[in-house]
Amino acid sequence: MKMRRPRVGILGAGQLGCMLAESLFRYGAEVAFFDVEENAPGRLRTPHFTLGSWANEKQLGAFFESCDVVTYEFENIDPQHLKHVSDLFKTPLVPAPAVLQITQARDHEKNFAVSCGLPCTPYLILNSTKDLDDYCTQFCPAIAKTLRGGYDGKGQWKLSSADDLRAIAKALPLILEAPLQLKNEASVIVARNAKGETSILGPFDNYHNNHMLSHTQFPSSLSPAVQTALVNIGCEVAHKLQVVGLLTTEFFICSEAPQWQGTLSPTFSPSLSPKGDLKLVDNCYIGINEFAPRAHNSGHVSRLALDFSQYDLQAMILLNLPFPSANPLRKAGNYLMTNIYGDHLIDATQNLLGQVETTLGSAQMVSAFPPEFCLYGKTQARKARKMGHFSLHNDSEPFDSAAFRTHANEMLVHLCATLVNSQT
Ligand code: ADP
Ligand code: MG
Repeated sequence: MKMRRPRVGILGAGQLGCMLAESLFRYGAEVAFFDVEENAPGRLRTPHFTLGSWANEKQLGAFFESCDVVTYEFENIDPQHLKHVSDLFKTPLVPAPAVLQITQARDHEKNFAVSCGLPCTPYLILNSTKDLDDYCTQFCPAIAKTLRGGYDGKGQWKLSSADDLRAIAKALPLILEAPLQLKNEASVIVARNAKGETSILGPFDNYHNNHMLSHTQFPSSLSPAVQTALVNIGCEVAHKLQVVGLLTTEFFICSEAPQWQGTLSPTFSPSLSPKGDLKLVDNCYIGINEFAPRAHNSGHVSRLALDFSQYDLQAMILLNLPFPSANPLRKAGNYLMTNIYGDHLIDATQNLLGQVETTLGSAQMVSAFPPEFCLYGKTQARKARKMGHFSLHNDSEPFDSAAFRTHANEMLVHLCATLVNSQT
């Protein structure tokens, strides 16, 4: 009997695409990557690599034509263009272009949340310099973000005065958000297949540094009522968007109501009023921050903590394989994922060269790598660039989350010292 290997195309050959490829290979599929970067990590994972440009319809068309189904590992590609190519070659794009249309733009995703009656960070859309002038004094301090293309805190500005707001006029259109006093951040990943069946991962507790994800802890430390509310919102979004694929929802959790909530100045007409509200659950104000129609950095921890990872579920959806009968099972204990950024490797180099004093001394190495350790194969370590991650397991009782993160941070320094030392 002949077995045909389905071929899955992945737009973007970075770490998310590579980890999805690992799961796809295990389920017997072939993988093809399309990327604009010659040295993208996925280049060496498969013989089917297209180096092309997103706007080149001929290249993209040939790629779609060679695949049974195509997905994407990031959102910044024109959905109309993808729809056109997908229709032309009758190769489905999963999740569909309509999902990408909403989830790739911060104004669309927030407007969508509000239209579904779901809680989200209070926001305003600034289209013109007139909007800037109208809002300047009333809505600073605030956080401004570009509508598209932002990631890992890029494309965002903390504004403390009206002058700060005027200074970013060049970046219009922008979304202006209430600056929240965050108590926690969390994410929920919903895998939804073509039959509309779902499998839920999370909630995951996310810790950020300089707007970039540093750690993800699972299981979450949030109260059961808050966790249930987050899962319900994540599922509602996935169903309302009719997602076939993964849908990650990032959440903000505050102990107090945001400063823009409820009390609007009577001098503002309704069209100039912020939209979006946080919802009070179990003494916490919760709301949607943003969506991602794909695997998420916080979901890396599922590779160690669950019997099926986010990538396994994504592969099952793409290959039309049945889901496990229950949500992925959590293994015992607590899990922590830590991101390795270019900064950590650059710091380790300096430490080893003796240029920076560290409490660790210059050359402490690890004697063993953690069970789930992944370097993405990027050849250039740059500041704020994700280079890899590792996950740790802890079953000590009582569990001390802060101590676990401290331990992971120490491990990070030692790991980077070892990695850098191994190169010299
Ligand atoms: P990105 O696409 O870069 O992930 P986010 O909107 O998720 O963009 O912002 C990144 C991080 O910046 C958030 O996880 C949070 O830590 C911080 N942040 C973003 N918006 C706000 C806000 N309105 N109030 C407080 N912190 C914020
Ligand atoms: Mg985010």
